Amino acid sequence: MDAETWAAIAAAVVATVALYFAAVSARAAKKAAIHAEAVASVEQERRDEERERRHEELEPPRPSKIETEVFGTTLYGRLPALPRDYLIRIGLCDEGQPGGKFRFQPQWHVSAHVPYCFPIDVWPLKPSVQFVVAVKFWCPDLDDDHTGPSPWTCKCGGPGLGSYYVLDADEQLSGDGHWEWWAVPIDLPFDEKAPAD
Ligand SMILES: [Zn+2]
Repeated sequence: MDAETWAAIAAAVVATVALYFAAVSARAAKKAAIHAEAVASVEQERRDEERERRHEELEPPRPSKIETEVFGTTLYGRLPALPRDYLIRIGLCDEGQPGGKFRFQPQWHVSAHVPYCFPIDVWPLKPSVQFVVAVKFWCPDLDDDHTGPSPWTCKCGGPGLGSYYVLDADEQLSGDGHWEWWAVPIDLPFDEKAPAD
């Protein structure tokens, strides 16, 4: 073989080797990308779990009953002191009435470690009345003016402020609470009720 033929063979070998290594390095890059994706998804999962755990930690502990007391002729419910500030709305439903619905009172900013009293009804209650209480809770930093003494937030990705405000009414928080208690029975201060009509 002459020198030209040798040179052509050598060039062909070099090209084949280069192609081989290009293929190997492409496979390695693909493998590395798949690995990086898997690591990122594990990390994302860990962060999601952490946020979900934090969401559960921040949930206000639900009492088995709402305690009540009477001032004058009004029956009040007393929300137990909570470990941190919340924005709340309290709803009352008379389960003694067929088709009874929860009626929600205006929103309120409750402070940490301070029990909150809310009016329930005229006392004594009628014998047919059976109130149960619902409470919707939101993080206080949803408050528009951020004036709460200890604003904090839950980063679980729950709906933001925009979905809670009813702009055409009196700007009451509406829709789902970030946390909710439903149908907590009330514990009457006395057994007596008004005589049946
Ligand atoms: Zn949350």
